Amino acid sequence: MDRRTPGGPPLTYLDHAASAPMRDEVVEAMAPFAARVFGHPSGHHRQARAARQALEDARDRVAELLEAAPREVVFTCGGTEADNLAVFGVLGAAVQRRPGDATVVVSSSVEHAAVLEACRAASARLHGVVHQRVGVDSHGVLDLSRLAQSLDDDVALVTVMLANNEVGTVQPLGDVVALTRSLAPQAVVHTDAVQAAPWLDVARAAPGVDLVSVSAHKLGGPKGAGALVVREGTELEALFVGGGQERERRAGTHDVAGAVGLATALAAVARERESESARVGALRDQLADGLLHAVPAVTEAADRKFVLPGHCHLCFAGVDREELVVLLDEAGICVSGGAACASGALEPSHVLAAMGVPAPIASGSIRFSLGHTTTADDVERALAVVPEAVARLRG
Ligand code: PLP
Repeated sequence: MDRRTPGGPPLTYLDHAASAPMRDEVVEAMAPFAARVFGHPSGHHRQARAARQALEDARDRVAELLEAAPREVVFTCGGTEADNLAVFGVLGAAVQRRPGDATVVVSSSVEHAAVLEACRAASARLHGVVHQRVGVDSHGVLDLSRLAQSLDDDVALVTVMLANNEVGTVQPLGDVVALTRSLAPQAVVHTDAVQAAPWLDVARAAPGVDLVSVSAHKLGGPKGAGALVVREGTELEALFVGGGQERERRAGTHDVAGAVGLATALAAVARERESESARVGALRDQLADGLLHAVPAVTEAADRKFVLPGHCHLCFAGVDREELVVLLDEAGICVSGGAACASGALEPSHVLAAMGVPAPIASGSIRFSLGHTTTADDVERALAVVPEAVARLRG
C-alpha cells in the first residue's frame, strides 16, 4: 500500500485501534460482491444462490474462528450494533420473561460508549431495568470483589469488555464468567471483544461467555461489518424486525461483502496472531520506552503486563492532547487523543477517570496504537517527532 499522503509528509499511521488499514487479501475477497455477485441472498435464482453460498461460507469461517456454531453467528453492521443487540436483546427478553421484577445489568465502568450508552438507554426505556457499574483499579483491571457484590438473582446481564479501547487493558473474563455462574445463575455474560480480537484468541481469553461482539474494521476488514455470537439457548429480542433474517435475530438484507470481509480479516488475524503479537509488541515497547526516556514528565496509563501488544497510552503532563494530535498530524503522524464525540471534539475520558488519573494528567493523554502495517520506520519517525512536538507545546 502507498502510505504517503500525496504531496505531504510520509504517513506514520499509529491509530489502528480506531480503524486498521484494510488488508489486501480482504479487498480482493470482497471485490466480486461489488460487481459480479450482486443477488439477494434470500432469493431463489443462481445470483441469489451465489450470494447465499458466500454468506454461509463466511458464517462458517467466522464461527470456526470464534469457536461457535454457524447458527450462533449473527452478522451486524459493526461493533456498535453487536453491543446494542446484546444489551437491548438480553434485557428486552428478560423484561418480557419476568415483567414487574427488577432486571439488573452490570457492566464495568470502562466499557465503550456502545455498551455504556446502551445500558443507560435500556434503563431509561425498559421498565424495571437498573444499570450498575463496577469500577477498575489504577491499571484499568476490573475490581472482581466489587463485581461479586453486585451479583444476585436480579442480574440478567453482565457485560465486561475483553480489552479496553483507550488503554488496552485486558479483563479477566474467565473470572467474570465463574463469578456470574455461581452468584447470578440467571444472568448471561456478554463481552465486547472488538479491541481484543486482533490480538487474542477470543475463545481462549473469554471462555464460556454467552455473547461476543466483534467488528471487522479493527481487524483490517471493512467498516460497517461485525458479528454478535449468541450461544444456543440465550434468549434475545431482535433490535430490527422485518424479513426474519439471521434466525429472526437481525432483520435486513445481508451485507454479503461485509460478511466475507469480516471472515477474511478474522482468518488473517488468526493465522498471524502469534508472530504479529511478538513483532508489534516489541515495536510498541520500543516506542513506549523511547518516549518515556526522551520526554520528561510522561507516564504510562497502565502497566504493560495488562495491556494488548498494540496499545501505548501515554499521559504528557502540561500538554493539551487536542493540540498534540494536530501538531503530530501536521508531521504525518496519526494518533488518537481519546474518544471523539460526533462533533469531532475530544470528550473527557471516562476510562482514565475510572482509573483515578487526575484530570490535568488525563488532558494530556495520547493513544498510539500499532498494528499489522506498523514498521520499525514508523516507530523511528514517532520517536524523532513526538519529543520535539511535546517540547514545543510546553515551551
Ligand atoms: N467496542 C469497542 C471496544 C470499540 O473500540 C469500538 C470502536 O471503536 C466499538 C465497540 C464500536 O465498533 P464499530 O466502530 O464497529 O461500531
